[in-house]
Amino acid sequence: MRAGPAPGNRRRAIVTALVLVVVILVGGFLLGHLAGSRSRSGLGDRPDAPKNSRDRVGPNARLALPPLPPRPQPITGPDRPPLPVEKGGPFGSRLTTGTPEVALTFDDGPDEVWTPQVLALLRDYGVRATFCMIGAKAAKYPQLVRDVVADGHTLCNHSWSHDVWLGLRDEPTVLADLKRTSAALTAAAPTARISYYRQPGGNWTATLVAAARRLGMTALHWRVDPHDWRNGPSYRIAADVTGQAAPGSIVLLHDGGGDRARTLSALRTILANLITRFHLAPLPPGIEEPRPSGTGRFGRPGQ
Ligand SMILES: [Zn+2]
Repeated sequence: MRAGPAPGNRRRAIVTALVLVVVILVGGFLLGHLAGSRSRSGLGDRPDAPKNSRDRVGPNARLALPPLPPRPQPITGPDRPPLPVEKGGPFGSRLTTGTPEVALTFDDGPDEVWTPQVLALLRDYGVRATFCMIGAKAAKYPQLVRDVVADGHTLCNHSWSHDVWLGLRDEPTVLADLKRTSAALTAAAPTARISYYRQPGGNWTATLVAAARRLGMTALHWRVDPHDWRNGPSYRIAADVTGQAAPGSIVLLHDGGGDRARTLSALRTILANLITRFHLAPLPPGIEEPRPSGTGRFGRPGQ
């Protein structure tokens, strides 16, 4: 009768077999993992490369990937980032949005006849804009100011009484006029922030630009002006705007200062055309760049 292996030898054999099994399993796992990594690296450095196994099918996987989504556009509304600095207009005023967005601006309101009709048309097209208001009119029609703000449009200071020669007056007079106008706008719509000043007639001076800046406002000029206040034919107003509008354009129109029937008629064509070509946006309510804090009486933002 042959004697079997000693109990000690049998235990060693079992342990050795177990170690071999573990080594084989771990080795197989590591090899598979390395192969997978190499395959994934074929997708390039895109941080958004899909991670599921369907996309790890070989060298042609890259061709099958969908294109990268477009970069997100700036968010419009109260939380959107401020505009990039741009001082291409007279005396360092702003000519463009500095973004691909086109901004429609309406001057010389609020007007009890025309402002509600402009608001209704903008609402129909889902477009928000910027309204440069005359202080005395804002004081007379505070509900219209509130209606403009309630629809998500941005407010802009257009002087107290549309003084086209305001820039020739001394600095205290200019500051008092601009402050009185902003006060009338915020008295009507306390949540609104008045971050833009537009000089009537576009008659900028260094005094005006500096005064607007001291009060926390950007000097707002324009790039596209169809002279709608001259009451030319509406097709000409519309053709001027649609022909001249380009990415970044600030467009000057009027919702006050006279009979705006032709502007209103042109606005239908303008909106129908521009919304297919551009993103129409109100100017952001915030200021365009950080201002130093505590720099004197007018140095704080939001004043
Ligand atoms: Zn004006």
